[in-house]
Amino acid sequence: MPSDVKMEKKVEVSKKEEKPVSNKITAGHVHLSGCTGCLVSVADNYNGLFKLLDDYVDWVYDLTLADVRHVPEMDVAFVEGSVCIQDHEAVEEIKTTRKKSKIVVALGGCAAYGNITRFARGGQHNQPQHESFLPIGDIIDVDLYIPGCAPTPQQIRNVAVMAYLLLKGNDDQKKLAGNYLKPLMNLAKRGTTACFCDLMYDVINQGLCMGCGSCAAACPVRAITHEWGKPQGQRDLCIKCGACYNQCPRSWYSFDVMNEFEGIMDIIDGAMK
Ligand code: SF4
Ligand code: SF4
Repeated sequence: MPSDVKMEKKVEVSKKEEKPVSNKITAGHVHLSGCTGCLVSVADNYNGLFKLLDDYVDWVYDLTLADVRHVPEMDVAFVEGSVCIQDHEAVEEIKTTRKKSKIVVALGGCAAYGNITRFARGGQHNQPQHESFLPIGDIIDVDLYIPGCAPTPQQIRNVAVMAYLLLKGNDDQKKLAGNYLKPLMNLAKRGTTACFCDLMYDVINQGLCMGCGSCAAACPVRAITHEWGKPQGQRDLCIKCGACYNQCPRSWYSFDVMNEFEGIMDIIDGAMK
């Protein structure tokens, strides 16, 4: 299958019956403290999801969709939700996921930086003792972040195809996939340590801000306001949680990859036909 993927042109997808199942990567969805919105976003790929499952990915773990109770070995784990540290099973599950997965993806805002679960103070009807929630990167090493609440279906699909090329492709395909995934890997490397200054240097001062307001909406301590359509930060309030940086759609904009982006999109479009 990887040899069918052409760098400059559309992918020629070989007939299904010619494709051994072992050529697929294995992936799963690990559901921690999240609203299932990210999984809905996976499903919102509609026919694209069937194409992914037919040709590229064996979905081997998903408490919502599959009757598998223990985290298996996987190539790619898409983790939705943050980790409740009063829930020992959740802490164990994320550690096991790290041990058993080649690539761990923080899928969505809660896994990447805590998102709405940062506001939780316990007292939930069914789990009143659950009070403190950490993004998964505070507990394990994470390979890449897909930010967003929820991330777009296309973004999830693109990452799945690129993970396939990274693990199963030829050298050129691996390089291309690495380039596509690099900004998301850089986001994961930065983790939850970014502050408003990073957003200012990397996005606002670079002229990349489009005034969408996602950073202000994500800030758990209301350290960001909008003046004249642009974010203004109160640095003395900032607790350096990284929420604004992760949620900003321009923080992982990469000038390095920009030139290759059209070709990458052609490949993904071809792969999904
Ligand atoms: S406290 Fe607010 S401004 Fe500071 S890093 Fe977090 S989200 Fe950004
Ligand atoms: S999230 Fe990013 S693009 Fe949107 S207003 Fe904030 S800095 Fe600008």
